[in-house]
Amino acid sequence: MSQANMFQDEEHALPNADRCVSVLVPYPVDKAYDYMVPDGEHLQPGDYVIVPLGGREVSAVVWGAAAGDVNPSKLKSVVLKHKAKPMPKAVRDFIDWVAEYTMTPRGFVLKMALSVPGGLEPPKPAKGYQYINKDILKLKITDRQRCVLKLLSDNIPRIAADIARDAGVSSGVVKGLVSKGLVEEVDIFNPAPCRKPDPFRDGPALSEDQDAVAQHLKDKVKQDGYYAALLDGVTGAGKTEVYFEAVAQALKKGKQVLILLPEIALSNAFIDRFVSRFGCQPALWHSHLSPGARKTTWRGVAEGHSKVVVGARSALFLPYQNLGLIIIDEEHDPAYKQEDGVIYHARDMAVVRAHQGGFSVVLVSATPSLETMHNAWLGRYEHLHLLDRFGGARLPDIDTIDMRAKEEKTDAQHFISPSLKQAIEETVAKDEQVLLFLNRRGYAPLTLCRSCGHRMECPRCTAWLVEHKSSARLQCHHCGFSTRSPKHCPECSEVDSFAACGPGVERVYEEAKAYFPDANILMLASDTAENNEQLRKMLDDIKNEKIDIIIGTQIIAKGHHFPNLTLVGVVDADLGLTGGELRAAERTYQLLHQVAGRAGRAEKPGRVLLQTFMPEHRIMKAMAEGLRDPFLETEAHEREVAHMPPYSRLVGIIVSGRDEGQVVEIAKALGKAAPQGVNEKGHKIRTLGPAPAPFARLRGKFRYRLLVQADKALNIQKTIAAWVGGVKCPSTVRIYIDIDPQSFL
Ligand code: ADP
Ligand code: ZN
Repeated sequence: MSQANMFQDEEHALPNADRCVSVLVPYPVDKAYDYMVPDGEHLQPGDYVIVPLGGREVSAVVWGAAAGDVNPSKLKSVVLKHKAKPMPKAVRDFIDWVAEYTMTPRGFVLKMALSVPGGLEPPKPAKGYQYINKDILKLKITDRQRCVLKLLSDNIPRIAADIARDAGVSSGVVKGLVSKGLVEEVDIFNPAPCRKPDPFRDGPALSEDQDAVAQHLKDKVKQDGYYAALLDGVTGAGKTEVYFEAVAQALKKGKQVLILLPEIALSNAFIDRFVSRFGCQPALWHSHLSPGARKTTWRGVAEGHSKVVVGARSALFLPYQNLGLIIIDEEHDPAYKQEDGVIYHARDMAVVRAHQGGFSVVLVSATPSLETMHNAWLGRYEHLHLLDRFGGARLPDIDTIDMRAKEEKTDAQHFISPSLKQAIEETVAKDEQVLLFLNRRGYAPLTLCRSCGHRMECPRCTAWLVEHKSSARLQCHHCGFSTRSPKHCPECSEVDSFAACGPGVERVYEEAKAYFPDANILMLASDTAENNEQLRKMLDDIKNEKIDIIIGTQIIAKGHHFPNLTLVGVVDADLGLTGGELRAAERTYQLLHQVAGRAGRAEKPGRVLLQTFMPEHRIMKAMAEGLRDPFLETEAHEREVAHMPPYSRLVGIIVSGRDEGQVVEIAKALGKAAPQGVNEKGHKIRTLGPAPAPFARLRGKFRYRLLVQADKALNIQKTIAAWVGGVKCPSTVRIYIDIDPQSFL
């Protein structure tokens, strides 16, 4: 029996599959194409195949039977079937569903599931060397050869380069031992990661509270069927320890598990915890993997060998053989939304995946998104609470500093108020650590000519260039454009006339250095840690208390646990509130809460100071009083009154192209034909715009936006397809459809 036939439980050979099948290719096409099946081959849905396509041969997936009326002799033939377990029906159904919901061609969604060049080739063995047990006393061997034998005496085969490195010899020495008959050549297969995580190892003893929630989740995972929960608890409550119990339960059932994290590359601490709980590394999935690791992981997941994947949003589209649980940690995090290619929200799609697959999904957060709270209020998600910080650590005291007050005012070149400065002094004097948080990279967000007022702007985007003093460059944080900081003003030619306006972390660092020359100060932003190793070292230095003051962006706001960090100062708590976007208040609250959660996580009590020009704003009040739920309820009420999500559905339409006239023309045509009013079923819909996008230019393209707002019961995809499909658009202009937009830029 072939391997594929062994896994036919829910699959059935297709009626006319002896002759032709329909195959979905990983390209932006919606239609699956028909191909002839080669003689003697049997294909079933989900089989990975190679088919000819426009003069090339591409890997693709059998999607179903060919249409009844095709003439096989007119079709091209499938080239071959890959030796791999077929893509399960649950994965194919999910791809179809996501394509329909996001209004993306199905092949484009499939591409995310197949995004691994060479993943389908049979894994190639590497040549390794292994010790042959022999009495070597009688043989004459050199010292170098002895070193190699000593290394290999554990009977683990290694490739020559590794032996040479670890034994400190050249690889010729290894070959010499082969001819002596002391070492033999063997094939080493690069095994799938995370094959045998151990669910039976003991985790930490859970508190009574934690145990009750863990037990409940375990019971749900034990049963088959869809179940969704919101695991809600303050930072440090032990949510991770609790959901690890659910993971262990799914593993005991023999299922695969996916743990989604917003910024996987930055979570060494998380991986360490995983290893200590399950005894091996998880399979990782994120954009910085090496091609080799991508290949083995993809293959391991597709074959069902890799049991736990810890990944960023794209990990949702891996072709799991046997997925049985999804955890979405920090479910509120905006990083779950993908804004280019297939525009989707991984949190929402993960819930759909669990629903379709009939298993449990757990959304985890200390500051749930309003969408998720809404679902919990409606009873769609079970709301599970962890009320206290583990081990009796108290939540920090939170106060605002009114930056309008005379005694707190700073001049335009300084950003640390007298109160904050004093608090830093006191904390450092006690040998405790301080985090100064500012979510802005670089030195200054705006560079202005003092002589003529010219502002340095990105030539390709509607955005100011941000000064980076360390590299003496001006950078665009949107398109990556970068230029040397100019000597002369390009407008009035005045020399050295530029003034830096506003703070970035580099500037706060400079200020802190001046105030506290004896303190050890570390600046941490995504562009200061060059790689993962460097980042790990910086985090270790903080943990080992070599650092007194940390100046950081949101890279430091999440997940980290520094027991000696007792003061958090937020340099500009108002930063996220200025744009006036739909979720500005919610996002700001989430971020501030998360940053505040870094303070006082162990025995020593923590303190948080928020510098703000709006101390009376309800966010600052909610933070200072620790009242999250009333804040969310007010926020929900406002959204409901305005008929905004989660009480309605939005769709963003972005028209973009290099020729502004053309873009305006298409945007206007869309506006004229836009859906407005009440449909035959009584569902309301309205369309705002077109208007220039806040980023009216991005990467050299002009952008106009429309926004559709509709009752949730209305079939929005159908309406939009009819509308947008009816407007003729040249190939030089692109229309992007963003269902449930998170960003309105
Ligand atoms: P959360 O995910 O809710 O922020 P974590 O799971 O990260 O909380 O827990 C915070 C800290 O407390 C971690 O260092 C964790 O190891 C520790 N912790 C939580 N629960 C326990 C427990 N039952 N026993 C020992 N340590 C725990
Ligand atoms: Zn730019």
